[in-house]
Amino acid sequence: MSLELVAVAVPVPLYKTFDYLVPSRLRGRLQAGMRVKVPFGRRHLVGIALEAPREAGMDTDGYRHVEELLDEEALLTREVLGLARWAADYYRHPPGEVAWALLPGNLRRGQPARLPEDPGLQLTRSGAAALGELPSRKKALRSLLQALGPGPQPRSALPRGPALATALESGWVEPVPATALPFALAETPPELTPEQGAALAMLQEAAGFDVALLQGVTGSGKTELYLRRVAEVLERGGQALVLAPEIGLTPQLVARLQQRFGEGVAAFHSGMTDTERTKSWLRARSGAARVVVGTRSAVFLPFARLELIVIDEEHDPSYKQQEGFRYSARDVAVLRAQRLGIPLILGSATPALESLHNARTGRYRRIELAARVGRGAPPQVRALDLRGQLLQHGLSTPLLDKVQQHLDAGGQALLFINRRGYAPMLVCHDCGWIAPCTHCDARMTLHRGRRRLICHHCGMQQPTPSSCPSCGCKNLQPVGEGTERIEDALRNRFPMVRTERFDSDRLTKKGELEQLLAGIHNGDIRILVGTQILAKGHDFPGLSLVGIVSADQALYGADFRAVERMGQLVTQVAGRAGRSAGIQGDVAPPAEVLLQTHEPEHPALQQLMQGGYPALAELLLAEREATGLPPYSHLALLRAESTDAGLPLRFLAAARELLEPHAEGVMLSDPVPALMEKRGGFTRAQLLMQSGSRAALQKLLAACVTRLDGLPEARKVRWSVDVDPADLF
Ligand code: ADP
Ligand code: ZN
Ligand code: ZN
Repeated sequence: MSLELVAVAVPVPLYKTFDYLVPSRLRGRLQAGMRVKVPFGRRHLVGIALEAPREAGMDTDGYRHVEELLDEEALLTREVLGLARWAADYYRHPPGEVAWALLPGNLRRGQPARLPEDPGLQLTRSGAAALGELPSRKKALRSLLQALGPGPQPRSALPRGPALATALESGWVEPVPATALPFALAETPPELTPEQGAALAMLQEAAGFDVALLQGVTGSGKTELYLRRVAEVLERGGQALVLAPEIGLTPQLVARLQQRFGEGVAAFHSGMTDTERTKSWLRARSGAARVVVGTRSAVFLPFARLELIVIDEEHDPSYKQQEGFRYSARDVAVLRAQRLGIPLILGSATPALESLHNARTGRYRRIELAARVGRGAPPQVRALDLRGQLLQHGLSTPLLDKVQQHLDAGGQALLFINRRGYAPMLVCHDCGWIAPCTHCDARMTLHRGRRRLICHHCGMQQPTPSSCPSCGCKNLQPVGEGTERIEDALRNRFPMVRTERFDSDRLTKKGELEQLLAGIHNGDIRILVGTQILAKGHDFPGLSLVGIVSADQALYGADFRAVERMGQLVTQVAGRAGRSAGIQGDVAPPAEVLLQTHEPEHPALQQLMQGGYPALAELLLAEREATGLPPYSHLALLRAESTDAGLPLRFLAAARELLEPHAEGVMLSDPVPALMEKRGGFTRAQLLMQSGSRAALQKLLAACVTRLDGLPEARKVRWSVDVDPADLF
């Protein structure tokens, strides 16, 4: 008998898979997608069989044997294995680590996987025949078979007892997955508005693979349309995946889906325990979970029968993983939908420029929801010119007056600033010393509540000095504003009302956000100060004033996406305002959104204020086209860092020489220091690859990335490739 080899993905940072011999006792049992234990060097690792075993040639010297088979059924489907293979290739990441990313922790450690019992039963052909011949004294058995006569039923709806065991043993009934059971809504959905109805009809035109970009302001009823499309899929026995950008947004989506669909809705995100994640994972695999709501990594769940993917807030940068396996869940979802031939819905009030571009070129269909359900349009953003204004902790008098006015009229105010802490700098007023991070090219942020200086780039902390380390004077002053400072200023100015801060420093305990949100809803909290935590998902009916403390930093941000992000955030925050009546049944004053700036005539702000996000997007797309930036070109970034200051640039120079001969149709930048050259004690540099053709860029990466480790300069350098980078830092 000839020998068999199997290709195994092993969790090591190497750009290849490894072949192992299949021992004769495992022949015929080992399939693609099963976990195996294999020897690796002196270790024993859990790996994943990527393919079915194949005939080995004559020369099998040097191969080692698979030691153990950990699964009886393939855990990973062929479809997911194919997706992982594509992603490993496209993002140039070691295939073993990619395969690893597909499994929850328990399963990675080799724990047994118990797929949940099929929740349904149906009559087999012999069961149907038996029904007619059963003697009438076999009452229990008869009524069981009769109950199944019309079609599959959930076990929970059937009589329990020995009759069931008999029926199963005799082969009269058989288990069926959840997807085979009849499906009923748990609540009656609301009647769609005419606009929603038209949009749904357009969504329903999708046949096979289709990407619909559903663009609608917050509150325009996008989620209701997701639910309608999910229902159609569940009725057919399919499964659906709904992605949300962050953990905090999943509970409300899960709740809404459960209300509509009952059991069979599962969550999957990193805020869950390993055991909970594994349970959801296995339920997706078996079909018991009919809908999964998850964050980024859920895009790789091994669904039994996936028929729809929805990505809410598709523009959100958190869909792109920023370290290790740097995939974009949105882009992987597009590919997955394409390979499966199923529809994908991308929903957002402020689509990414990439997605808008794809809609323009006809790759995606853009479907618009212009009105909010039952309410007026969101208020227009107006600029508040800061020039010549007296500022108190970054807040101008006109803005403070507005807050007063809205409070008097029974409204609520939200002040948005995307920076945590008290102040981004602590400066000596006598000698000009500025508290630096000794590990980064950055300033320390002052956190007054905690009496500490914290570096937001590397996490370094130290107690706030009481005197200047440089000149010894006591004249240290905070410069600039963060959420803490704005909160303080508003508490002092409006001591009679409750002001609360919403940022990741404040919200550390589980359930805290929910408690505060309740306080907003019942009108207890009148002023909200917060970061982008407040920009997403939550509904504030009594909110009438939104103040953007500053947009100026983004206008001159070094990253080419800074203005796009600013426009998205401002629009999202603005969308929180004026969603309905005021607090406690009062009528809220008409909603206003004010943006403080030193440059109200900046073209980007002008577009945003006059035409909203769509107009800003137009302007930015034209700019990107003129400068040849994405979506009009494709980027990959080679980053390098080392504690040896000169090494990253030397490594990149060598890398550039290696890349150069293969860089047909790809522009290679010179190696340059990163924008923040020193971070966390490492000196950082980067090399940008840019091309009008994705294929040309991929060809270059395919030819070179695996050889970079062979460069002599690679030894003391940490390097990584980022394909379609979200930022260029
Ligand atoms: P979006 O996802 O665009 O923010 P939602 O679908 O959450 O919008 O809708 C906003 C609010 O309006 C929700 O409270 C939702 O329950 C309600 N809603 C949506 N569609 C309808 C409808 N056709 N009839 C009544 N209420 C609706
Ligand atoms: Zn000093
Ligand atoms: Zn630092």
